[in-house]
Order: sequence, then structure tokens, then C-alpha cells
Amino acid sequence: MEWSIDTAKNLDRDDVLSSYRSRFHYPKNSEGREKLYFTGNSLGLCPKTAREYIYKELDQWESLGSKGHVQASIPWIEYHHSVKASLARLLGAKKSEVIAMNSLTTNLHLMMTSFYRPNVDRHKIIILKDAFPSDRYAVASQIQNHGFDPKTSLVEIASNPDQPTISEQKIRQTIAQHGSSTSLILMEGVSYLSGQFFDIEEISKVAKEYGCMFGVDLAHAVGNVPLQLHDWNIDFAVWCNYKYLNGGPGTVGGCFVHQKYETQFDLPRLSGWWGHDEKRRFLMEKDFSPMKGIDGWCLSNAPILLVAALRASLAIFDEVDLGQLREKSVRLTRFLEEGLIGHCKKSIKILTPNDSNRRGAQLSLCFPDEGKEMFDSLQQHDVVCDWREPNVIRVAPTPLYTRYEDVFRFVEILNKIS
Ligand SMILES: *Cc1c(COP(=O)(O)O)cnc(C)c1O
Repeated sequence: MEWSIDTAKNLDRDDVLSSYRSRFHYPKNSEGREKLYFTGNSLGLCPKTAREYIYKELDQWESLGSKGHVQASIPWIEYHHSVKASLARLLGAKKSEVIAMNSLTTNLHLMMTSFYRPNVDRHKIIILKDAFPSDRYAVASQIQNHGFDPKTSLVEIASNPDQPTISEQKIRQTIAQHGSSTSLILMEGVSYLSGQFFDIEEISKVAKEYGCMFGVDLAHAVGNVPLQLHDWNIDFAVWCNYKYLNGGPGTVGGCFVHQKYETQFDLPRLSGWWGHDEKRRFLMEKDFSPMKGIDGWCLSNAPILLVAALRASLAIFDEVDLGQLREKSVRLTRFLEEGLIGHCKKSIKILTPNDSNRRGAQLSLCFPDEGKEMFDSLQQHDVVCDWREPNVIRVAPTPLYTRYEDVFRFVEILNKIS
């Protein structure tokens, strides 16, 4: 394939998903020209319908006041249920296994309260050495909260020094070494830093062999890579809805608990009134009687305006064939990779796996000869990507609204700047 703007434009013309781009607001520069947006992995773009969805709830608040809880077109007391079907589809889960609530890190704590039950024989948590800082803080604080010491109870899976990704073998080895004294294994579905997509199905099996709980953080996986949480027998999962899912800055997070725990009401949990049996919630009873499934972990009534924005985004995902989305993601990311390897004059190290099955729509780049100035000049050229310390530039060609032409222009700009 010839590397040219015509090739890129032809690929865009043949792209069955090309029309979705116009459903989002694109950030523009001071002259009104669209920027090249490659941070959909950090904050997805704003759907044009988001305003309408939020205004609708504002209107009902204005006209109905508290009656909106029962009289709004989707009554607010059940508003959070309205995103279940869309989320379940994206996660490969049952509706009764997923919920939108709180934020990712809060949900992680709630889940660890139930699924990290350490004792002297099994007190460890295994995480990635390069785990997202919030996850690490949460894990360390949970360990301490149970009277254990992260020095002995927090186990890291580290990559080899010369290799940015982590081999399946290394994961197995670590689990084999520590599994019998481990209570919980917590993995990112897709590494925020390297973009590696882990074989969560396989790790789930290994975790079970050693009698460990297995939880996943899907912040960078949901809306990005194919997931089958139910069939993969994942114990719990948490995610945020503002990255690939375009749900809006700081919108509600997501949480999954496997169906097998649906009626295990004796699992320790932190409870709130929105997890109490829906039919009896307003009887103001003293004793907590949890809803079945994930709903029993819900604490509070939903932040309606945030869920409204999320609904706008999920309505778009509902229309998209997820197989086609993945296919475009694979091709577009490959196109970016080809441009960087074959048509870019700079020396670039790509930290993300080369195998499409082991990554989503993100390439993490390291420019050994250049520092942060490189990133700064990209910004000056209206390229929105992000910098992660110490030296990683993450570029996410999110397939819902990125064109092949954008990728071509990105490589062109890299060649231009010095
Ligand atoms: C983005 C991200 C978070 C964000 O946590 P919040 O609680 O939503 O602020 C957590 N973990 C990972 C892996 C992430 O990528």
C-alpha cells in the first residue's frame, strides 16, 4: 500500500463507520481548524447530543422539582437502570451484572471490601508493577486497612528491563510463585501505559487454579477491545465511562460483579440505601436487605445529569456494530504503526505489542533522541496526544471518530517538526 494522502482518503471513503465522526464535537484551533485528536483514551469527545440529553433532565427538574423522581420521562429513581443494557453489551455481561455508579476508584474500594478478605495464610494482592497509580494507592490502603503491610502483601508483576510489555509467562510465573498466599489478583484489561491488552480470560483461569479472586480494571479496555466478562468468569470489574466511552468528564464509573455472587448476600460489603430492595426502599426499614446482583452494591441515588451525558454516548454505541468497530480499530492502529515505522524519519520505539490481538486503539511511543520538547511541538501543531512520565507519548486513533487522513497528517507533522 502506497503511503500517501490519497491512500488515506480512499480508506476513509471505504470506511463503513466514517459517518460517526460527525456525531461528535471536534476541538478546533484558534483559526477554527479541527485539531488532530488522539486522546480519546483519556477523555472521549463530546457527542453533539450530550447537551440535549442533559437539558432534557434540567427541563424536567425545572418543571417537576422532586416529582421528577417518579414522573420524569425516565423516572430518576430508576434512571441508572437505563444504561444497563448498553453497558452489558459492551462488557459481554448480563444486565444484572453491571451498573453505572460512583467513580472507578470508589468502585474498586467497594469491590475490594467484598472480594479482598485477607487472612494470615492468604493476604497478598498481585498487581502490575506499572499499574495505574490510583489502583496502586487503593490496593496499598486496603492492605493496610486489614492490618497487613504492602511491603509483604503487595506483589508486583514486572516486565523485563529491556521489554516494555509483560509476557503471559511472567504473569503465570508470578501467580505460581505467590498464588497460594494470594487473596486477590488485580489486572488492567489494557495497560494505560503500554497499551498492552492482556489475555484476561487466560489469567482468570490461572487465578482460579490457585484459588485467588480475580478483578480487572477496564478503564482503557471498555469501548476499546472485545470483552466477555461473564464467560471469562471474572469475579469483578471496574471502569470509567469517560475514556473510549465518551461519557463526559468525571462521569459516573462502572462496576461488574459476576452472576455467581448474585444471591450471595453474606459477602461483606459497604452498603447504602440505593442497594436496599427497591420495592421496600422507601419504607425506611432499619435492616438492610440487598438487591440481587450488582444492584445490591449501589450506595446512592444516581447523579442524573452525569448519567444523562453517558446516555447520549451509549445511544451512539448502541447503533455501532462492535465487530466493525474492532475491525476498524485494528486497521487504523496498524496504519498508524506502518506510518511510524516505515514513513517517519524519527527514531521511534513503540512500546505497545505489535500483535493486534494484544492491543486496542493506542500506541505508546518513546522517542529516544528527544524529550518533552517533541511533545510540546506536537501541541503547537494542533496535535492532541498525551505525555506520561517519564517519556511516553500515547497516541490513540479511536475508531469511532478518527480518520485515516488524521493518522496520515500526524506522521506528516512528526516528519516536519525537529
Ligand atoms: C483513568 C484510569 C483511572 C481513573 O480513576 P478515577 O477513579 O475515574 O479517577 C483508574 N485506573 C486506570 C487504570 C485508569 O486508566
